[in-house]
Amino acid sequence: MKNMTLAYVAQVVDGQLIIPEGKEALKDKEIQGAVNDNRKIEKDFLFIPMVGARVDGHDFIEDAFSKGALASLSERRLNNPSGPYIIVEDTKIALKQIATAYRMQLKIPVIGVIGSVGKTSTKEMITSVLETKYKVIKTEGNFNNEIGLPLTICRIKPEHQVAVVEMGISDFGEMHRLGDIAKPDYVVMTNIGQCHLEFLKDRDGILRAKTEVFEHMPSNGVVILNGDDDKLIGAETFGQKKIFYGLNGQEISATDVEADGITGTKAVVTIGSDSFEVIIPLPGTHNVMNGLAAAAVGRELGLSVSDIKRGLENAGTIAGRNNIIKVREVTIIDDCYNANPVSMKASIQVLGKASGRTIAVLGDMGELGSDERKLHYEIGQSLEENHIGYVFTVGELSEEINKSLSQKNSSCMAHHYKTVEGMLEDLIPIIRSGDTILVKASHFMNFSTVVEAIKNKV
Ligand code: ATP
Ligand code: MG
Repeated sequence: MKNMTLAYVAQVVDGQLIIPEGKEALKDKEIQGAVNDNRKIEKDFLFIPMVGARVDGHDFIEDAFSKGALASLSERRLNNPSGPYIIVEDTKIALKQIATAYRMQLKIPVIGVIGSVGKTSTKEMITSVLETKYKVIKTEGNFNNEIGLPLTICRIKPEHQVAVVEMGISDFGEMHRLGDIAKPDYVVMTNIGQCHLEFLKDRDGILRAKTEVFEHMPSNGVVILNGDDDKLIGAETFGQKKIFYGLNGQEISATDVEADGITGTKAVVTIGSDSFEVIIPLPGTHNVMNGLAAAAVGRELGLSVSDIKRGLENAGTIAGRNNIIKVREVTIIDDCYNANPVSMKASIQVLGKASGRTIAVLGDMGELGSDERKLHYEIGQSLEENHIGYVFTVGELSEEINKSLSQKNSSCMAHHYKTVEGMLEDLIPIIRSGDTILVKASHFMNFSTVVEAIKNKV
């Protein structure tokens, strides 16, 4: 974290820096990150212990030093610690102060994602689009509150070119605090729903609370709003430009949405005067809306229409979990992360909906106990019911799937192999344009290698 020397951090948090004798020079050393979880300490990080309901982070200060922490914060005096520490009144407040000071000197654009529903999904979609051109840092998971947001800011490194941060609130004033930390150059608002009514009373209250953020944006910032949301249409900014997206002819809009295909959701996206067809590999019209928000951000950050399209088509791809991959004209359903009979049948059902030839590449399902053979055998029936064209099985238990299909004299072309290599030798040559291939097995089968082989060889 550039310029964040221990001496400067101590000043920012208004704390007392205590350095073990002989190590005084450390005061001019920069911290490389700041975390509140000792397991995430890396070399020269600052450890920020927090007092929780069950665990007191102060108990892990020595562990943090042993993992390479440069220093720690502490709410109390420490007895002979292994490294420097800064005494503060409240480590949670100190974290915010550190993130705020660090953010002030960062030159990269920060994008805040706000809204009642769809923040995480939209953040992922924006990241997918921006990653076609930039090195992006994003909120991990759902770390969107007054602890998660500053921790995210502290993860920004010199190589990052843009930050996408989720900001979540449940009461008035909270967005002022989050906005003050993130100072977003761009804000995306997904919608004004019915969450957190306890404090915010009604949708107008929610709108007021969320729009507190505008006060913390530069006047040349940009606000990107869901134009199909009746409350957001009327949102007043502090002079920042507004861009609307939606399904009703807004500046960034979508038409011809087809939300029932297996390869994701199809739509024609219009960005100003450009239009293109896109398949977002996630189900549902709401993902088209999230995609439009991402397209708007992409355009504002100078991406070409083809980059935006590519980013949308790669969205939401969590490797190995029902991840739809398009390679040339071949569709791979990469579901190799794990398998059990229920998910196996569900995936086969999805495969059955594909329009071209269907190929199932299946491996053993683990941890099924004494019924394991029977449970594999039953998969055969599901393959038949869904009219799967080709079935390639690998592994000892999966032989049962093959047996079941052979005994039934099924119309599936079924082949069984002892090894992945043997299977690939037969599979790769038969793949052609328009095929859809499901790859699924339990984790130990290591079927990610199958996905990679198909990706590289078709
Ligand atoms: P949280 O407040 O828990 O952080 P969030 O705002 O981050 O929620 P997501 O986790 O992205 O919301 O989505 C929650 C659910 O809403 C998901 O199951 C998703 O399918 C659905 N969803 C995603 N995007 C939208 C959207 N734009 N409109 C409506 N529903 C959505
Ligand atoms: Mg979320």
